[in-house]
Amino acid sequence: MSAKIELMAYQQKGIERVFVFTGGDASCSECQKLSGRVYTIDEALREKPIPCKACSHQLHEGREGWCMCRYMPQH
Ligand SMILES: [Zn+2]
Ligand SMILES: [Zn+2]
Repeated sequence: MSAKIELMAYQQKGIERVFVFTGGDASCSECQKLSGRVYTIDEALREKPIPCKACSHQLHEGREGWCMCRYMPQH
């Protein structure tokens, strides 16, 4: 599911804020900078912090991985 669709689904449920869940130790240092950061749905849709453009996660030695961050609803 794309981040945008995920955000719009949260919005429809009446959730106003989300925070970034990076997947913990499995995420790269760039993604961990975003960990726990709170956005309103509007901000997240506008700024599109996920997928992280600076993500440097490596799947295996020398092979490029991908950003594993996702939004979680903030209650
Ligand atoms: Zn990353
Ligand atoms: Zn990321």
